[in-house]
Amino acid sequence: MRAVVYQEPFQVAVQEVPDPHIEQPNDVIVRITSTCICGTDLYVYGGRTAAQPGTVFGHENLGIVEEVGAGVITVEQGDRVVVPFTVACGFCRNCRAGSTGSCLTVHPSGRAGGAYGSVTTGPGAGGQAEYLRVPYADVNCLPLPPGTQHESDYVLLADVFPSGYHGCELAGVSPGETVAVYGAGPVGLMAAYCALLCGASRVFVVDRVPERLATARDIGAVAVDSSTGDPAQQIKDLTGGEGTDKGVGAVGFPITAGTGEGEEPVTVLNQLVQTVRPTGGLGVPAPCVRCEPVGVVADAEPGTLLVAVDTLFEKGLRVGTGRADVKRYDRQLRDLITEGRATPSFVVSHELPLDEAPVAYQKADQRVDGYTKVVLKPDAG
Ligand SMILES: [Zn+2]
Ligand SMILES: [Zn+2]
Repeated sequence: MRAVVYQEPFQVAVQEVPDPHIEQPNDVIVRITSTCICGTDLYVYGGRTAAQPGTVFGHENLGIVEEVGAGVITVEQGDRVVVPFTVACGFCRNCRAGSTGSCLTVHPSGRAGGAYGSVTTGPGAGGQAEYLRVPYADVNCLPLPPGTQHESDYVLLADVFPSGYHGCELAGVSPGETVAVYGAGPVGLMAAYCALLCGASRVFVVDRVPERLATARDIGAVAVDSSTGDPAQQIKDLTGGEGTDKGVGAVGFPITAGTGEGEEPVTVLNQLVQTVRPTGGLGVPAPCVRCEPVGVVADAEPGTLLVAVDTLFEKGLRVGTGRADVKRYDRQLRDLITEGRATPSFVVSHELPLDEAPVAYQKADQRVDGYTKVVLKPDAG
């Protein structure tokens, strides 16, 4: 089959690789119809992880079940399914508690949590390919209505829509509250969209890219341009000096410095601490810094940051972090799409044949020509 394969930093190719096959009785094989490029893929693409040449990318996958293992009960050949980016077993202590993003069974090294298509989080090959093996299929396949309707909305159920929602959950967003979202990439825009779905009275979205701020305005948020001055102060000025009730950090990593030059991974965390009013809550569903084999910034190598803990404590802020527990939200978010109450595909900028992945990666990485969220179509072109 054809798949998007990592070659070397800033280079992927569409190559022939072996077809996946049923390895365990609870596996299924999905023929992929839509698979997204994520910011995480771009991070690996940039050569900042231990990813080896030959890694097949892709953890945001939707398709049709092609082959079903003998032990699978609820999924049938021909079903249309979307698959969470994290693999969950469904039976470990964390999965039973709903924390499927921290499954204790699936990662080969024994760490909590595992995803497709990345050596750092294991456990399997990615879905930017014609086919994908899905383990624990009864848990990991979310059934979708048959047909092709809402395809570019449903594919976002694999990651960015629930990750945005998770940010709001971690922060504790309630109806009528004010929310500041840092970052207007796909996850930030989803967090702002979910805050509005949850009934927030006002949502502020901070970024420095004009097109992204325009999209934030289009969905009903207040755009805050961080290139024109300290965003925390701008938001305080817009909230009578008080700051917001809740804040979501969805910039991801790497984080460009306020000046636009170089990287400052701690900046967003400390701006959140400044932005949110005393006793408020912060949700951080995307990492601000990661351990890197070769630190591009000094802090990045050990994965530590200098956070304003004094202010954090004095304000009594609650902080929630971590990968999204997609299974906790995906059924409800799917039904919002099906019923026409949510249309998250407004973040999708491009739908392209799989063969155009090398150019799509290059442009998405450079953030040029409006490339924000790309959906690859293995069965097109
Ligand atoms: Zn993703
Ligand atoms: Zn588990």
